[in-house]
Amino acid sequence: MNPVEIPLSAPDITEAEIEAVVSVLRSPRLSLGPKLEEFEAAMAAYVGVPNAVAVSSGTAGLHLALLALGIGAGDEVIVPSFTFIAVANAVRYVGAHPVFADIDAETLNLDPACVEEVITSRTRAIVVVHTFGLPAAMEAFLDIAERHDLRIIEDACEAIGAEVGGRRAGGFGDAAVFAFYPNKQITTGEGGVVVTRHSAVARRMAALRNHGRYDSSDRFDHTEVGYNYRLSEMQCALGLEQLRRIDAILARRADVARRYCELLRDEQGLALPGQRLSWFLFVVRLLRVNRDRVQSRLAEAGIATGRYFAPIHRQPAYAAWRDAKLPVTEAIAAQTLALPFFNRITDDQIRRVCSELRAALQEPVRPSPD
Ligand SMILES: *Cc1c(COP(=O)(O)O)cnc(C)c1O
Repeated sequence: MNPVEIPLSAPDITEAEIEAVVSVLRSPRLSLGPKLEEFEAAMAAYVGVPNAVAVSSGTAGLHLALLALGIGAGDEVIVPSFTFIAVANAVRYVGAHPVFADIDAETLNLDPACVEEVITSRTRAIVVVHTFGLPAAMEAFLDIAERHDLRIIEDACEAIGAEVGGRRAGGFGDAAVFAFYPNKQITTGEGGVVVTRHSAVARRMAALRNHGRYDSSDRFDHTEVGYNYRLSEMQCALGLEQLRRIDAILARRADVARRYCELLRDEQGLALPGQRLSWFLFVVRLLRVNRDRVQSRLAEAGIATGRYFAPIHRQPAYAAWRDAKLPVTEAIAAQTLALPFFNRITDDQIRRVCSELRAALQEPVRPSPD
């Protein structure tokens, strides 16, 4: 395997951000301090929801949101299979049963009609993922939730800042989760935030994140079994600084996406991503050639790409779900390829990716054996 010359993603950390983290390191509070409160307040204001709870990862956020909304053993939760595995795993952490629903081929988000088809008397919630930064059809999901008395958790981990009808992703559900892993639009290294308009849910999540302590002044008053899902002051300081320049970050990512679209527009056999409101990844679909062959060819040229997403129901950890009927998910997942996409990618790098991709598309290749 050749060395990676153009990575799939790369961090964008400014000197001011490094300074902000270092000054926390010089302060007396490294956890549960003022940066946590500031970061939570800033995220709540940004999303437009009254409460935010910062946690150690997006996955931890999904786990706490499910717990605090009372989802547990015997409950069914509807999730997409065309997404990151943490979405279904979090449902299993609380002892509930994930039920997969198919996606819409255009938006790659859950298809409301497919969701309705799998609702049973045990369904309690839907995790609606805003895939790759495109908000899902929230009106339809809120309507379904109302008719069937279901909770809605928005997984906005890929969609920070995406706005629909003047409301930002994360402002629609009973709770919404954001994530700050290094490949996301903004990063804290590891981290997440859950927002909710229900203050009791926020209070419970804040306690569960901190070993079940409802009153942080009393170190040994554990009302229920909790977790350590805290986000450190250093991470909160980094998140705050990144959030301060999110408009510039999202604009830069939109520019990179626009440039890719310009360069690849006339390419046959390639479906470009539709407009995103907050660009997480740049994912193309290869309509005529074998995706895995293209991926290895690009790897040989030093270009990293990603198979976003391998369907969850086809993972060994989900053997019991393997027969779920998800034809759109399976068809799309075999074709998708994420191209290098990060704030600091140069125009030369974008052009190099496009010319290598073009060459790979022209190579006569047989269809995939599977
Ligand atoms: C990134 C992401 C998460 C959370 O990931 P963590 O690594 O736990 O922060 C959850 N759901 C989706 C859809 C994601 O893309």
